[in-house]
Amino acid sequence: MQQPIRTTCPYCGVGCGLLASFKPDGAVEIKGDPEHPANYGRLCSKGSALAETLSLEERLLHPMIGGSPAGWDKALDLVASRFKSAIEEHGRDSVAFYVSGQLLTEDYYVANKLMKGFIGSANIDTNSRLCMSSSVSGHRRAFGADVVPGVYEDLELADLVILVGSNLAWCHPVLFQRLIAAKEKRGTRIVVIDPRGTATAEAANLHLPLSPGSDVMLFNGLLAYLAANGAIATEYIERHTSGFEEALSCAKAAAIEKVAQHTDLPAQDVLAFYDLFLRFQRTVTVYSQGVNQSSAGTDKVNAIINCHLATGRIGRPGMGPFSVTGQPNAMGGREVGGLANMLAAHMDLENAVHRYLLRRYWSAPCIAAKPGLKAIDLFRAVGRGQIKAMWIMGTNPAVSLPEANEVRAALGRCPFVVVSDITSETDTAAYADVLLPSLGWGEKEGTVTNSERRISRQRTFLPAPGDARPDWWQLSEVARRIGFANAFSYRSAAEIFAEHAGLAAFENEGSRAFDIGAYAGITAQDYADLVPFQWPQHAGQSTRTRRYFDEGGFFTPDGRARFVPTPWRAPASTAARAFPLILNTGRVRDQWHTMTRTAKAPRLMSHVPEPFVEVHPSDAARFGLRNGGLAAVRSLRGEVVVRTVVSAGQKPGSVFVPIHWTDQYASQGRVDALVEGFTDPISGQPELKFTPVSVAPYPAAWHGFAVSAQPPSRTGPGYWALARTKGGFLLDLAGLSPVRDWMALARTVLALDEGADVLAYHDAGAGQHRFAAFEEERLTGALFIARDPLTVSRSWICGHLGRAMRHSQDRLQLLAGRAAAREDRGVMVCSCFEVGANQIADAVKTGRCRNADQIGQALRAGTNCGSCRPEILKIIHTQQTLIAG
Ligand code: SF4
Repeated sequence: MQQPIRTTCPYCGVGCGLLASFKPDGAVEIKGDPEHPANYGRLCSKGSALAETLSLEERLLHPMIGGSPAGWDKALDLVASRFKSAIEEHGRDSVAFYVSGQLLTEDYYVANKLMKGFIGSANIDTNSRLCMSSSVSGHRRAFGADVVPGVYEDLELADLVILVGSNLAWCHPVLFQRLIAAKEKRGTRIVVIDPRGTATAEAANLHLPLSPGSDVMLFNGLLAYLAANGAIATEYIERHTSGFEEALSCAKAAAIEKVAQHTDLPAQDVLAFYDLFLRFQRTVTVYSQGVNQSSAGTDKVNAIINCHLATGRIGRPGMGPFSVTGQPNAMGGREVGGLANMLAAHMDLENAVHRYLLRRYWSAPCIAAKPGLKAIDLFRAVGRGQIKAMWIMGTNPAVSLPEANEVRAALGRCPFVVVSDITSETDTAAYADVLLPSLGWGEKEGTVTNSERRISRQRTFLPAPGDARPDWWQLSEVARRIGFANAFSYRSAAEIFAEHAGLAAFENEGSRAFDIGAYAGITAQDYADLVPFQWPQHAGQSTRTRRYFDEGGFFTPDGRARFVPTPWRAPASTAARAFPLILNTGRVRDQWHTMTRTAKAPRLMSHVPEPFVEVHPSDAARFGLRNGGLAAVRSLRGEVVVRTVVSAGQKPGSVFVPIHWTDQYASQGRVDALVEGFTDPISGQPELKFTPVSVAPYPAAWHGFAVSAQPPSRTGPGYWALARTKGGFLLDLAGLSPVRDWMALARTVLALDEGADVLAYHDAGAGQHRFAAFEEERLTGALFIARDPLTVSRSWICGHLGRAMRHSQDRLQLLAGRAAAREDRGVMVCSCFEVGANQIADAVKTGRCRNADQIGQALRAGTNCGSCRPEILKIIHTQQTLIAG
């Protein structure tokens, strides 16, 4: 039997190892790699469902010019000539690349080399700018280099883990599972600092729902408290750091009462957190987008690092500040200079020695001498007409960038837009003059680096579909056509990695943290066999470093870490009368980015099938919203229409909308159309978690939903949201004005022929209209309409798609929408075993199960990836409270 292929998950920054193999019927099977040190065999719901996302449906298989298929030569000739002519006529800075943390390191390396070394501009930025550039800036300010000091194991060795702005349970689920296993084994205390009551907060010993944007005040207060209570590591500070007194003097402004007032937290909760930090030497502070995506993101990072430096809790087992990255290769992008303000191999654009070194290593004609435009500024420059040719690779800025409507307008005005992607069905691809088909996960070869500096291989186990080619090949071919053939003659990803590793070691001698010189000149066979490793890996010496900075050794000119004074600043926008709520954005458990891959898996869509706004009950009452209704969320920039979820976990005064929905899956679900492009002044990272908004009920005249074996039509209704289900599609819809002919609507939405076998039910007085369509007695579609949002179980109706329904009694029961209690699973909780909330609640109500383990034994829910365990625990708690009360 063929051995499984070892590869790495294409989603989050945990970087789980996978085993890909083929079943006897040829279907792909994905399992966790028990030998990979990131996950030791575990996977989350997204990783577990990867095999269901591999269909070629919606794949871009051939180059396209102006919407028509073209050969590679023609497409590449056109790209090269338009870039070349733009450079000749308007200068080097008139062209730009916008790349992605989804790219492999080898792709990233070639893109950066072409732009910064041969075109001679630094106009290459990445969607990682939106994800963790504040961490990069914070690291560089404090450590002199972009280094994550710790390793994942530290979360298992710590006595206290503080999660700041991180919904680890949903965004880094396998790391969360490792933390929870440690908590169960050794009683790790967990503090969650997040305005929202998330699935992660459910597992916390202490949850601090602070005011959005007040984190710096909280950590300044902590530093002052540690100093006042004798917890300062004087010797470490004296030997290895500078600037402590200045940072402390700034932090002392944050007295407990002031912290409590600014953070909107009870003083005793603030003190409880400070006491935990004081008591437990083994402390890890994990932070993520809630810290980074802020106009004070870099200061937030440094306020956290200050507390770890002050206590000497860095680089030792179970201690340290720990930035976790969102994307699979955000770290790899940092290593090759994928950000507009950095050079490759962690070198500095402003450093003439580094530029000279790079020029010699690459034999480059002109190294960029000044930083390029960061993401937000880059697209504003596109809008102003400064950028004449733009190449976007593996990302969807028309959805994911703040001011997303303005980004669309800018792309519409750009004279030449190239998009490399695996699909043409993205909002951004609609603006491309040239579309280039890239290889996807499972088809391409390369490496990625996860949040703990571990480099792992992504390997090929699927054939290249159509004419798709690697991104590095596309870039090299364009470079060759522009006139740089010698420097871009790569024949494989292995050759690129060998050059990248050589650069990391070139004239390094310990001056730069990123060093993988042990792999310089790696052979194709060794690259094929490469096992996951952490950097640094120096050439010719055994590498001792697993963690950084326990004994100092910072990468600043004097070798000392720098404390950074971090005076608190208000977020860039403040709530105004017209926009009285603060919008927070983020991920949901089972979706990834703009859903180009995860939306293909019905079981991932079943967890949260529609975009939503989460509001606190007091705000719902104040603004006339009801749970399950539709709401319009507006800002100065735009509007979305989404389902309302009323939740006590939401902080009063703030709302949450997920980032994933695009024009492919919802009529008005792009939340980044609401977000202002305010950025952190140092990192350029946008403030994605603090947008003043208003909410109001969406004045729908009617509501409904359709299930259909065929893609349903989305033209007509004012609101719609589409999700794949087993055997078809689910379309939620609503309209602003009454419909005169409901049957005509049913025929349009369900794409029915005139002669279709349709069963209809009307109660015009009650505003109810229901249709079920059959072909050879099998249900092919159904449409349910009512004046108010329908409570009919979508999952129950979807379960009938394709089912033979001969008896009129069954058909009538379907139209009545009355599921027998045991047949309605309710909202999907465990997507691995497709167990719904009703099933779990029922098992508790009937006394069959009292805890999550018993639920696992009875229903299997939570026993595979474990991503749903926080939700299972919540349902158990709710049911037990109801029973007790
Ligand atoms: Fe993939 Fe999930 Fe692991 Fe992240 S935690 S790398 S999404 S399997």
